Amino acid sequence: LAAAAPEAAAGPAWQGKCPWGAPNTTSISCSLADVMSEQLAKELQLEEENAAFPEVVAAAEGPFITGENVDTSSDLMLAQMLQMEFDREYDAQLRREEKKINGDSKVSISFENYRKVHPYDSDSSEDEVDWQDTRHDPYRADKPTTTPRRGFIGKGKDITTKHDEVVCGRKNTARMENFAPEFQVGDGIGMDLKLSNQVFNALKQHAYSEERRSARLHEKKEHSTAEKAVDPKTRLLLYKMVNSGMLETITGCISTGKESVVFHAYGGKSATEDKVIPPECAIKVFKTTLNEFKNRDKYIKDDYRFKDRFSKLNPRKIIRMWAEKEMHNLTRMQNAGIPCPQVVILKKHVLVMSFIGKDQIPAPKLKDVTLNSEDMKKAYYQTLNMMQQLYKECNLVHADLSEYNMLWHDGKVWLIDVSQSVEPTHPHGLEFLFRDCRNVAQFFQKGGVAEALNERELFNAVSGLNITADNEVDFQAEIEALEKMNEDHVQNHGKKLATFSSDGDPPIYDE
Ligand code: ADP
Ligand code: MN
Repeated sequence: LAAAAPEAAAGPAWQGKCPWGAPNTTSISCSLADVMSEQLAKELQLEEENAAFPEVVAAAEGPFITGENVDTSSDLMLAQMLQMEFDREYDAQLRREEKKINGDSKVSISFENYRKVHPYDSDSSEDEVDWQDTRHDPYRADKPTTTPRRGFIGKGKDITTKHDEVVCGRKNTARMENFAPEFQVGDGIGMDLKLSNQVFNALKQHAYSEERRSARLHEKKEHSTAEKAVDPKTRLLLYKMVNSGMLETITGCISTGKESVVFHAYGGKSATEDKVIPPECAIKVFKTTLNEFKNRDKYIKDDYRFKDRFSKLNPRKIIRMWAEKEMHNLTRMQNAGIPCPQVVILKKHVLVMSFIGKDQIPAPKLKDVTLNSEDMKKAYYQTLNMMQQLYKECNLVHADLSEYNMLWHDGKVWLIDVSQSVEPTHPHGLEFLFRDCRNVAQFFQKGGVAEALNERELFNAVSGLNITADNEVDFQAEIEALEKMNEDHVQNHGKKLATFSSDGDPPIYDE
């Protein structure tokens, strides 16, 4: 009550300046209403704080933690989140300082290197280069410049060695200049401050550890969280998406596969106006545990689109490439009008796309849904159509097409999981297509669609080729011969065939 009184009394004086305008009532005496409103304010603030964090915390404690050390990992997560908030404010301050220093000058200096949080959109590759080790260390001990070599000056009683307290103290103070520009050390030089070695070393240590803090966030040990659904780095990436408002909440895990984990999320607001975030999103996190990906080499290694890049890449980058491939392939499909998830954003190995399903319930896979014969027939013709479109308009072969990667939603089939999809002229492209055709033909034939083509007919219908072999073995052999012809052409001419042509016609070459 006592504290509220002077504030109320001061009312008239600050009224004019108050950014929120003048209060409606100014009472000199301390009223119950003042106390109430202060409490209300506190309550409101608390509410706001609670509103800002619970989903994130819930998400952090929910689907992301599967290891046994649940508490430590969520603590780490929370600590990182808080640190990120702090770092963000810190960076904002740094930016203001930078602006103040640079003014209108044509030549400007940058504090970029001293920032804690690297901008959300920058594609920093902190896990490729261990910049903690390679970066220039600004705090390395300076060579003394003023003390002569022999280590002392003066004569007799007045001798001053380099260990002299005063000289040392001043020098230490001067060396504070070498700390990062935003590291507040005060005006030590101006007031002839003398820092003892002990104090200076403690300060230096502190400046040093501040500097390294953001680096420590990306420490190597975080890479080895093999057993968890997602590692701290990924969690942070997801948190950033929620924090930036792009996603509203991450509700839970839809699927945990060998190579990816898929989450459901409610979409938020886009930073740019031209982009609309779908109300519900699926987040596909490509697993950063590397061993699982080894057997997928053949898809990507021979994909000429990625050929130049493959040899130079480390395994971590290859995983990002899977995510990138899925994004590109989905975009091609989207452009051709094939029902498939719409790409929202790609961040490293995390792909956000529209959710196929409703109210957190994913659309069922074709293998899990019981369709009546009419819908089954409809699904078949639609699949045939999509395979043709995929081949002709998108220049793609799905390469993992089956009832597992087709969802039934809104009375139609949706294609998903296209990270392994390749162009038909991929050295194994036609083999992949044949395998897809086998899966599709078998599924619909078993499903009772009398009109369903067999695998060889389907292959010809999709590819436009006219392979006449009437048995599987010969058919396969012809496919491989075609692939080899294409490869030879690449060897001899340095470019691929644009398409495989049907029997008899000369091949069509790329311009
Ligand atoms: P994987 O490589 O693990 O098979 P998928 O892309 O097939 O990855 O995703 C795994 C599962 O997650 C799918 O079978 C499907 O049930 C679900 N899923 C993936 N993407 C979506 C999406 N956009 N909307 C709804 N569910 C999805
Ligand atoms: Mn799948």
